[in-house]
Amino acid sequence: MGLIVQKFGGTSVADAVRIHRAARKAIDAKERGNQVVVVVSAMGDTTDDLIDLAKQVCTVGDREIAPPKREMDQLLVTGEQVTIALFAMAICAQGHQAISFTGGQIGLLTDESFSKARIQSINKQKIFKELDAGKIVIVAGFQGVTSDGDYTTLGRGGSNATLVAVGAVLKADVCENYTDVDGIYTADPRIVKNARKIEKISYDEMLELSGLGASVLQTRAVEFAKKYNVPLHVRNSQNDNEGTWIVAETQNMEHIVVSGAALKKDLTRVTVKAVPDRPGIAARIFHSIAAANISVDDIIQNVMDDNTANISFTVEHGDLHDIKPIVEKLVKEFGGTTAAIYQGELAKVSVVGVGMRVHTGVAERMFDALAKAKVNIQNITTSEIKISCIIDKDHGPIALQAVHDAFDLGKARA
Ligand code: ASP
Ligand code: MG
Repeated sequence: MGLIVQKFGGTSVADAVRIHRAARKAIDAKERGNQVVVVVSAMGDTTDDLIDLAKQVCTVGDREIAPPKREMDQLLVTGEQVTIALFAMAICAQGHQAISFTGGQIGLLTDESFSKARIQSINKQKIFKELDAGKIVIVAGFQGVTSDGDYTTLGRGGSNATLVAVGAVLKADVCENYTDVDGIYTADPRIVKNARKIEKISYDEMLELSGLGASVLQTRAVEFAKKYNVPLHVRNSQNDNEGTWIVAETQNMEHIVVSGAALKKDLTRVTVKAVPDRPGIAARIFHSIAAANISVDDIIQNVMDDNTANISFTVEHGDLHDIKPIVEKLVKEFGGTTAAIYQGELAKVSVVGVGMRVHTGVAERMFDALAKAKVNIQNITTSEIKISCIIDKDHGPIALQAVHDAFDLGKARA
């Protein structure tokens, strides 16, 4: 007996039949004697469809404006609101008690960064009151409110953040993340045919993988789970199979050199050329970018002979719209021969594993595999538990398969 928080993503609640199937999982957990909270996403592709609609409305002739962020959130929160009500009804229709809440109704307060807000607090009393009354509590994922009462969203895939935050404040025994796949794979199975389901992986490895393009779990959700030590169980809503457990690192995890490989597509490299080579310049650049809430990666600086430096970094292609004006402003400010170059159509292939801390030769093996696959490496970045290479976007799938094979990730573990 315990407290379980379950989350059902868009595909798992895409229609009435699936909503009933998901509701059954919640009821099963309740009938086993647990208290159950369910976090849900918008049905199917609802969020994408709403974004698309916003785009249409924001295009007049051949001029397209970026939709105002506050209004975008105002629009997107409606998706999850539909699901919570239907989900609660489905549970009631199956003879159990349920109540649904929007983010605002459980006091899920966030900061004011529309479209990527951060959770600040949740009113757990309200949830406990309903649980103690014997109800299954349904919470809208992906959304919150500011202290002013404005609706915010937590970034794409943000229902995962809601899952973990709710799990953390309620001190849940497990957060079950129901999705349309059996768990976390050694690589994206749509690209790598012999990819394998991982049984157990550490928070840190999962953090790297999700930051690198493994789309099942949002980075922020995993950070939260790690911080509050909430075990996460990623599993399939269409069957009862064990999925992948994401847990605190244990000693024997180091035996495995590489746990998974990932591919991040649609990156653009921004190079600020010929910036003055003196203290404070990098700080100036990245301060402006951070202030706009844009995350950058793979930062590289090359110092030239003439007291200037080239600073380059990658951003997701979708952030280019926001970052260009910032960079152009900096270029003007630095003056002289400073200039900005944007190079799109890039991808990043990475391998991740806590075993890298104790094993050597991992980088060599990866570079060798890419060389044999005739993939040119443009930049390399590493951390204690990952190695990433920036490559041409077109080479992405071949590169992913090559590194996956090089580390025998398709073979069952001993
Ligand atoms: N519905 C939102 C999205 O599609 C949140 C989520 O699914 O987690 O991004
Ligand atoms: Mg969705």
